[in-house]
Amino acid sequence: MKRRIFDEEHEMFRDSVRSFMQNEIRPHSERWEREGIVDREAFLKAGEMGFLLMWADEKYGGAGVEDFRYEQVLIEENAWHGDAGFFITLHSRLVGPYIGELGTEEQKQRWLPKCITGEYILAVAMSEPGAGSDVAGIRTRAEDRGDHYLLNGSKTYISNGINADLVVVAARTDPENPYGLSLLVVERGMEGFERGRNLDKMGLKSQDTAELFFNNVKVPKENLLGEFNRGFYHLMHFLAEERLLGSIGYLAASDAAFSLTMDYVTERKAFGKRIADFQNTRFKMADMRTEIDVGQAFIDQCVIEHNLGTLTPENAAKAKLYTSELECRVMDECVQLHGGAGYMTEYPICRMFLNARVSRIYAGSSEIMREIIARSVGLDPRRKDSDKRAGRRASAA
Ligand SMILES: Cc1cc2nc3c(=O)[nH]c(=O)nc-3n(C[C@H](O)[C@H](O)[C@H](O)COP(=O)(O)OP(=O)(O)OC[C@H]3O[C@@H](n4cnc5c(N)ncnc54)[C@H](O)[C@@H]3O)c2cc1C
Repeated sequence: MKRRIFDEEHEMFRDSVRSFMQNEIRPHSERWEREGIVDREAFLKAGEMGFLLMWADEKYGGAGVEDFRYEQVLIEENAWHGDAGFFITLHSRLVGPYIGELGTEEQKQRWLPKCITGEYILAVAMSEPGAGSDVAGIRTRAEDRGDHYLLNGSKTYISNGINADLVVVAARTDPENPYGLSLLVVERGMEGFERGRNLDKMGLKSQDTAELFFNNVKVPKENLLGEFNRGFYHLMHFLAEERLLGSIGYLAASDAAFSLTMDYVTERKAFGKRIADFQNTRFKMADMRTEIDVGQAFIDQCVIEHNLGTLTPENAAKAKLYTSELECRVMDECVQLHGGAGYMTEYPICRMFLNARVSRIYAGSSEIMREIIARSVGLDPRRKDSDKRAGRRASAA
């Protein structure tokens, strides 16, 4: 599909990102998958290219890029030519803004420059063995001890968990209030901060998704990010952008899988003709092309809205729900069209299928997205019937 929302400068930027991904990332992909982790050097090299935290102010070493389309280009090129487990966007655009938007001037000066060069790698730790979708169920506890918070608890499924130098940790600071959380920055080397297993996953093999443990970690007061006891609301504030970031990647991965499959079905023959010549194949390809293009129009619109500051949480939820479900359908069809080859890990489509499965689970599962969307159309079980009717009228208006 002809992309309407990019101009010449974005395309020039795309060329440089593509060659970076092709030369510096993709060649290491198989080794990283075997080792279960991306080299730290990948972040340093991305930093040299100016690809990390591009939004950050020049005084910290950033490029001051406010146009979200550049981040969209980065995500798309990583999906097409980089490595699905290279979580450059989680570092730059998901966790970085916690420091950029919530941090004090002193914190920004202390942390941002090294995040921009790639010397520091970032992670965010909300999920726990007993709390994933239900953020208000977080048990990790931080007690006020005068000049520091005493942090105790554990986190799991944390992306960049082994590589991370700074981890934004959501901890309970008000035991009486389910939403009484605060965000603390835990730094590599703090006493009592330990990493557990680098978890063995179905896909995203090169991504270091890990357990983290905090045993009486003394986190200095200067490492409180944002307002004390307002952590829950800070986390919610960043979720719309997080979901849009994900959606861009899920759709780009679907598009890349479509392209791979086009190559395969036009090459491979059965019963004396190309797989592409069976009506079933042509119709499946037509359906996928349609859904990807229609999805792309919505995502591009969300990007424009995000640039204007008007992207709503419900539209971000729709974007995430649609693209993650589509990605899984597309990967499944593409594996099917590859036949037995699609089941072999040496074929990229097999790994893409396995990578895709988590898209419907993390960053808010499909069920949670449906909850958000249902509430936005007035279907909120916590409200009275009369309120529901009013909501329906409002959403129809
Ligand atoms: C590869 C990977 C990377 C991750 N990276 C990070 C990270 O960097 N940082 C971080 O903090 N977390 C991370 N996570 C955790 C992720 O965000 C959670 O796994 C996700 O939010 C789901 O939580 P859960 O696993 O506890 O599932 P649960 O919340 O236990 O959900 C189990 C099932 O119940 C459904 N369910 C739950 N609540 C409802 C409801 N109200 N209505 C209907 N259905 C519901 C869910 O949709 C799901 O199908 C990662 C997870 C994975 C797998």
